[in-house]
Amino acid sequence: MISDRVNVIGGGLAGSEAAWQLAKRGIPVRLYEMKPLFRTPAHVGDKLGELVCSNSLRAARIASGPGLLKEEMRRLDSLVMRAADANAVPAGGALAVDREGFSACIDETLRSHPLVEIVCRRLDEIPPTDGITIVATGPLTAGGMTEAIRRLIGAEYLYFYDAAAPIVTAESVDMRIAFRASRYEKGSDYLNCPMNKEQYDAFVDALVSAETAPLELEEEEKVFEGCMPVEAMAARGHMTLAYGPLKPVGLSDGAGARPYAVVQLRQDNKEGTLYNLVGFQTHLKFGEQKRVFSMIPGLEHAEFVRYGVMHRNTFINSPGLLNADYSLKKQGNIYFAGQITGVEGYIESTASGLVAGISAACRAAGLPAPVFSPYTAVGALGAYVAREGVADFQPTNINFGIIRQPELPRRLKKADKYERIARHALAVTDQFVKEEQEKWNSKGLQS
Ligand SMILES: Cc1cc2nc3c(=O)[nH]c(=O)nc-3n(C[C@H](O)[C@H](O)[C@H](O)COP(=O)(O)OP(=O)(O)OC[C@H]3O[C@@H](n4cnc5c(N)ncnc54)[C@H](O)[C@@H]3O)c2cc1C
Repeated sequence: MISDRVNVIGGGLAGSEAAWQLAKRGIPVRLYEMKPLFRTPAHVGDKLGELVCSNSLRAARIASGPGLLKEEMRRLDSLVMRAADANAVPAGGALAVDREGFSACIDETLRSHPLVEIVCRRLDEIPPTDGITIVATGPLTAGGMTEAIRRLIGAEYLYFYDAAAPIVTAESVDMRIAFRASRYEKGSDYLNCPMNKEQYDAFVDALVSAETAPLELEEEEKVFEGCMPVEAMAARGHMTLAYGPLKPVGLSDGAGARPYAVVQLRQDNKEGTLYNLVGFQTHLKFGEQKRVFSMIPGLEHAEFVRYGVMHRNTFINSPGLLNADYSLKKQGNIYFAGQITGVEGYIESTASGLVAGISAACRAAGLPAPVFSPYTAVGALGAYVAREGVADFQPTNINFGIIRQPELPRRLKKADKYERIARHALAVTDQFVKEEQEKWNSKGLQS
């Protein structure tokens, strides 16, 4: 019997999943949740595991990043996935849930668990203890906790807003149109999408008339003070972009001519599988981003793995701070979990809670730390936030661009390739589950 309690702060998706993974392994948990005493501007209910916005957990098929992540979590006995599957509603190829039933399932399971103590309190400090704590207070972390985190990790490592440009897969950029070059022939680091005058005119017209997403929170207005969305810049004048982020100076296309305007794409991951659109932080609705940005020559068939966003989002600069199991490098008994680590989305937040929970359970039980493989979607997210040497860290959704690929035959169709990567990831996950069970059983414990 393990007697030291693990503290989990925040009973959202990540905190609830972490608490479950601990308790099911026989580790007592004290889960601090401030609702209903206090609420963030996005939370309305009283239950644990609340969905703050959409009721969709995204694509269901395993040959998609979100589908694979969910299937891996099912195999890792995720409480959030149990609740989702038990409360699924018809949604075509997506997994959507009855939000009330979903939260009720998570809430009841944790409240009735003999090893979970739920304390209704807003924590303004990380509990001063040598024991284990998981901080899962979310993108809208409340009260003095923000300051406590800042003191722990340093002011320069805590961000409050997420203003990010869309990211596309490199393989979906049409290189018959785009060309590689850096300005003034200083290398070939960028992918450049050239526009002639007609294309530029049509693009700017579409951009300024496209529909923007409604502001979810009042504070989001502050985002625009320091960082202008590309559509707002375009609205200032028809040529503003051509003299700003789309300026063609120092660039010439294959025929040696200077294009009228150029959209530059910058490499976004070490592997070179992902590129972001430089200067394209945006507040357009996701569907509008797809429609308007696909007008850019070379991006007609681009696969968007992340759309641009501008919203309040408290997150830490995880690269260099966190290990791949979401523990702090400088203080391994403290873990972070959820959106605050720089993963983006419901299921990604859940996955980080799952990893932090299992890892913290092993630490509490004195067992070797589990290693989540970068060949899996669950492991790839941890590896993404923990990778070293990142200059401009931006949160990410799960996508195949960050999952390490096994050896594959060349020239596979994309769908076949993703299917094979997914099958491999699931086999690795099954092996992981088996080895974890053996590890815990060898100590007379259950995983
Ligand atoms: C407005 C908004 C809309 C979003 N919409 C979507 C969407 O549609 N789809 C999607 O995939 N993702 C969405 N996200 C992103 C993200 O997936 C969600 O925020 C998700 O809920 C993050 O999970 P989490 O566990 O990290 O945080 P949360 O689910 O927010 O959980 C954090 C918990 O900690 C509690 N808490 C906060 N501070 C304290 C404290 N000091 N002491 C004690 N308790 C505290 C909160 O009450 C909350 O219950 C959205 C984010 C925001 C802000």
